[in-house]
Amino acid sequence: MDTLSKENLLYFLDNKPYINMTNACTNSCVFCVRNQKEDVQGAKLWLDKDNTTSSDVITQIEENIKKVLTAGEIVFCGYGEPLIKINEVIEICKYLKEKYPSLKIRINTNGHANAIHKRNVAPELAPYIDIISISLNAENEEKYNLVSKPKIDNAYEEVKRFIRACVEEKIYTIASIVDKVPNYPVNKERCEVIAKSLGAKFRSRDFIENGY
Ligand code: SF4
Repeated sequence: MDTLSKENLLYFLDNKPYINMTNACTNSCVFCVRNQKEDVQGAKLWLDKDNTTSSDVITQIEENIKKVLTAGEIVFCGYGEPLIKINEVIEICKYLKEKYPSLKIRINTNGHANAIHKRNVAPELAPYIDIISISLNAENEEKYNLVSKPKIDNAYEEVKRFIRACVEEKIYTIASIVDKVPNYPVNKERCEVIAKSLGAKFRSRDFIENGY
């Protein structure tokens, strides 16, 4: 299914399915894959129309349902911030949980959703998702602003508040960082302390040049 000409709302990486909701993002991270390449393993992820509906995504999932169910988990993670399209994300999650209850659903997010939508969306997501991975990205606001270049005010505080909101909803919550980004060292130990103080798990992945 992966071509360089269609809108790829669903793509596979190492046989794992990912949902690509939008190009839009309220960050502009120095390590973002879209700064480095147009495609992920042959799937062009930049959406020319970028007006994705939930049924567009569900159609592409159903076209690949065997492969999706074999993977056991589907992840919202593409070229932009999925929770900008919160209504569509919830519609897709609701559909999947009702039809395929054993399929795990994970959202990878920049953690700005409550600031973007001006309400706490964690309770809306909680019934449908199994894991949320939120980009903490740094141990303080100054470094966060350098590495993530947020387009919203008080972004670092918003991220921490969103982590806590998800934990309070009893969603399995991971606060993540990208380590070893050239010229942008983060204090991994300090980030782990912050993640745990917010009640979240902590995950660090190493930056891969031109990678994912
Ligand atoms: S939050 Fe994610 S999609 Fe947005 S710029 Fe950062 S890495 Fe890219």
